[in-house]
Amino acid sequence: MRPLYIEWETLSRGWRDGDVVSEFILTPGFGLGMADKASAEQDLIIVGGGPAGLTAALYAARAQASPLVLIGEVAGGQAATTQEIENYPGFPDGIGGPALAQQMQSHAERFGAQIQFDSAESVDLGTYPFRVRTRTGEYTARTIVISTGSSPRKLGVPGEARFRGHGVSYCATCDGYFFKDKRVLVVGGGNSAIDESLFLTRLASQITIVHRRDTLRADPVLQERAFKEPKIQFVWSSVVEEILGDQEANAVRVRNVVTGETSTIETDGVFVYIGHVPNTKLFEGQLELDERGYIVTDRRQRTSVPGVYAAGDVQDPIYRQIVTAAGTGSAAAIEAIRFIDQHKYEENTE
Ligand SMILES: Cc1cc2nc3c(=O)[nH]c(=O)nc-3n(C[C@H](O)[C@H](O)[C@H](O)COP(=O)(O)OP(=O)(O)OC[C@H]3O[C@@H](n4cnc5c(N)ncnc54)[C@H](O)[C@@H]3O)c2cc1C
Repeated sequence: MRPLYIEWETLSRGWRDGDVVSEFILTPGFGLGMADKASAEQDLIIVGGGPAGLTAALYAARAQASPLVLIGEVAGGQAATTQEIENYPGFPDGIGGPALAQQMQSHAERFGAQIQFDSAESVDLGTYPFRVRTRTGEYTARTIVISTGSSPRKLGVPGEARFRGHGVSYCATCDGYFFKDKRVLVVGGGNSAIDESLFLTRLASQITIVHRRDTLRADPVLQERAFKEPKIQFVWSSVVEEILGDQEANAVRVRNVVTGETSTIETDGVFVYIGHVPNTKLFEGQLELDERGYIVTDRRQRTSVPGVYAAGDVQDPIYRQIVTAAGTGSAAAIEAIRFIDQHKYEENTE
């Protein structure tokens, strides 16, 4: 099969209408080959190819488990959509998100992980071995690591997509440093919005919180800290209608939901904190999820179904960092390997 080569940026932007990618799988070196539609039983299938999934793949591959990684629509996950990462240990000068994701993938492949540019469309965790149906085939697996991540909820207003990474961010812990001594605007009124606004007071010169209600939803202790913070000011009962700018975002148009008046607020950056949506639709009714839809795991990354593990943002409503995703990915793989070994031992001694 003659491989096709495409840019990492093309892979990381995800599938678009008209792309013909479902017939192909990634091969080492980022070439593409025809997908093998045979459904051999796998020891381990990893659903999701972000930092959690790729780290799980590395650990499982080094344990000779030859994991199959269904990388989904966004190769490298959210990390690959981030321009610059400055808080992943080992890279004191920072590293581009696509480059880090590519290195993680190459690292896992070097030890034998099979990376497939394919998405899980349905799973059956009620039978054993488990079944995973994808766009191109069907597989059975002795263990599964779920690392499908979560997606920040979007405002859905004009300018948001255009200025993403150019003044629009969904992660102050990640991007706050780029706004040192600048004015920023935070959208939201829950714990994340207030917590990250307080974090931004270390860096930004002024933080304007735009909230659609006239009271905050955040915990009282966070509210108290925010109200006492001189750098934070509030724009109440208002929604963002448009993000404006040239090369970078430089203002937002807001509408007061009580009076209907619109106004423009100048800013150097917009941080959107209106919630995260874990990518767990596939698992509804099969795994225990919390009230927000995150997969419930114990300290060993075990889910409510033995043999199924979860790692990264899909089970983490709190930290949502590359390093924590990678950490839980490694733990999930170690646990999955133990499970496989135990099962094989029991089968051989029956
Ligand atoms: C704009 C932005 C900037 C950020 N900057 C930083 C930063 O500087 N530092 C930092 O530590 N963190 C940063 N983060 C957070 C960080 O990217 C995430 O915490 C991390 O990527 C989570 O990794 P994950 O593997 O759990 O999930 P994700 O990265 O979300 O990856 C999920 C993967 O699952 C795949 N998938 C989803 N559904 C399916 C399916 N049905 N079948 C197969 N695959 C599927 C996706 O294609 C993707 O590959 C940032 C996040 C954003 C949005």
